[in-house]
Amino acid sequence: RMKDDGKNNYNVFKPNPNSGGIERLTLENSIRKALQLGEFVLYYQPQIDILTGKIIGTEALVRWNHPTLGLLPPAKFIPIAEETGLIVPLGEWVLRTACLQNQLWREKGFAPMSVSVNLSSRQFSKHDLVETIKEILLETRIDPQYLELEITESMTMNVDVAIEVLGKLKELGIHLCIDDFGTGYSNLYYLKLFSIDRLKIDRSFVRDIMTDSNDADIVATIIAMAHKMGIDAIAEGVETMDQLDFLRSQNCHEVQGFYYHQPLPAEEIEQLLARSSEVKTNLQR
Ligand code: C2E
Ligand code: MG
Ligand code: MG
Ligand code: MG
Repeated sequence: RMKDDGKNNYNVFKPNPNSGGIERLTLENSIRKALQLGEFVLYYQPQIDILTGKIIGTEALVRWNHPTLGLLPPAKFIPIAEETGLIVPLGEWVLRTACLQNQLWREKGFAPMSVSVNLSSRQFSKHDLVETIKEILLETRIDPQYLELEITESMTMNVDVAIEVLGKLKELGIHLCIDDFGTGYSNLYYLKLFSIDRLKIDRSFVRDIMTDSNDADIVATIIAMAHKMGIDAIAEGVETMDQLDFLRSQNCHEVQGFYYHQPLPAEEIEQLLARSSEVKTNLQR
């Protein structure tokens, strides 16, 4: 059956069929303006190692702090940004901001952790992607091993292109993750050739682990397969202790989800980091 996590409900800006392209054009212009005015913000959702309870990384998730509509989730503007190509400058801003923030936390003395950034297929197929990322790495001085790019299975459909681009990205020293794993078409054979570091098991499978034995089997199989291939597995959308226990029983120790934290503004992440390093120094004393 189809998995639906409601990603495409971007109804606030649903074009009015009677007004032709006008509303879409307005939205395109307002995204462009929002970029100039700095209305986009990044939230960061912690990724936890359940064996230690420590934050091992965050995923950067963009929001639009709209002057009249309030804080808008990506579903409300990413699809149009993708259609219009504005995802390219927006995505570049996301990458730069996420790397800068991660490096800032590093320089403040917090334990090193990774930052995962979602890449859209429009960005992936741009010829200068590798150059752009190289520049951002130099500019922000982030240690490349702490940057992870999240790609989707659909971006690897053209195997030759994927092998070339992903190979170049890996040469920069950054990490690669396949996001929403299990929802697209994957040729497992290529996971190794693509030098994928991590698979992120889609939330739609995790959601029904406890009620749907097919989903439990799928999740268990993905984890076992990934580990057999020397690839890490992380589960997204973990909301309950039962789900966590199941994942633990299958040796999946990296999780992301509301059970631990929602995506949070940078200041709140910093408070979390400060609190956990306090605990550490108290224990050491
Ligand atoms: P994604 O990359 O799969 O991100 C995970 C989404 O799941 C996030 O939604 C996050 O808030 C949500 N989530 C995390 N844990 C839970 C949970 O326990 N329960 C539930 N119900 N949801 C959870 P968000 O932030 O609305 O982002 C939606 C999608 O928008 C992302 O899915 C990603 O595909 C896209 N997106 C977000 N930021 C960017 C970006 O900077 N660039 C691009 N190209 N896409 C982005
Ligand atoms: Mg993602
Ligand atoms: Mg995901
Ligand atoms: Mg997902």
